[in-house]
Amino acid sequence: MADGPTARRLEGKPIADEIRAAVAEDVIAFTAEQGRPPGLAVVIVGRDAPSTVYLEQIIRGCAKVGIDARFVELEGEATEASVVATIRELNADPRVDGVIVQMPLPPTIRLRSVIDAIDPDKDIDGIHPLNAGLLRLGYDGFLPATAHASVEILRRSGIEIAGRDAVVVGRSAVVGMPAAFLLVKEDATVTVCHRRTRDLAARTREADIVIVAAGHPGLVTGDMLKPGAVVVDVGINIVDGRIVGDVEFESAARVASAITPVPGGVGPLTNALLLTHLIRAAERHAAVTAPAPAAGR
Ligand code: ADP
Repeated sequence: MADGPTARRLEGKPIADEIRAAVAEDVIAFTAEQGRPPGLAVVIVGRDAPSTVYLEQIIRGCAKVGIDARFVELEGEATEASVVATIRELNADPRVDGVIVQMPLPPTIRLRSVIDAIDPDKDIDGIHPLNAGLLRLGYDGFLPATAHASVEILRRSGIEIAGRDAVVVGRSAVVGMPAAFLLVKEDATVTVCHRRTRDLAARTREADIVIVAAGHPGLVTGDMLKPGAVVVDVGINIVDGRIVGDVEFESAARVASAITPVPGGVGPLTNALLLTHLIRAAERHAAVTAPAPAAGR
């Protein structure tokens, strides 16, 4: 007789709903105080990239809570100079509080030039080197939303992080590395694995917490886990028309004590957290652009 899954499912949606409700209230207060809603600009170069669907979701999510979010669309032939010039205009636009740039960019455009052009105070997805550096030093900058969500789902599900052994599979600048730094900040002992790691299973079997962000469906299976481990699956892969994560859910759920499903785990939380980053950017932006009180009053 095959054993069924015993792991608790860590659902992102209820947490995301809670966060969105709080954001909606913050948006109302901000709009009343400032006489304008918080503003998000999403720079896209053509609408063909698969990430456009994800970005459309973000725009819809913003509209639902009263944030003024829009695409700023450049033609498919856009040059690096035109993308950088567009970002600079948005940096200077008083109605824009946050800027996101669609990734990946066309190969003719250097990622570094684009990232460096974003005003770090409007960089709500934490890709600018200043925000990456702040995270590295343990200060409060803007966090990459997906990495933030992968750790926030543990916190909000009441899973203890301090003192536990964590393995992060993947060392990307947007997910793996920032997730690892966040876990260290939460007092976990962290190992980062990547494609040159010699024996991945030996590493993951030692871990109380496993965060997987490698972009490979089924990379982590139940036999690679310590019984009772907590598994966060950041992967989003399309296999036979279905969305699956980097973890083989069936086998992992029989061994783990808790696991995030894909879809429905980290994904919904990522979008909701991005909204909280935008509110924070808007409040800071309003504070620095507020007119100085008139003298003598
Ligand atoms: P993401 O955006 O999900 O972080 P990237 O493609 O940027 O994805 O990075 C993939 C990461 O996954 C890299 O750091 C790579 O080293 C890691 N990775 C890929 N394949 C494996 C593997 N078989 N075992 C361990 N790590 C892997």
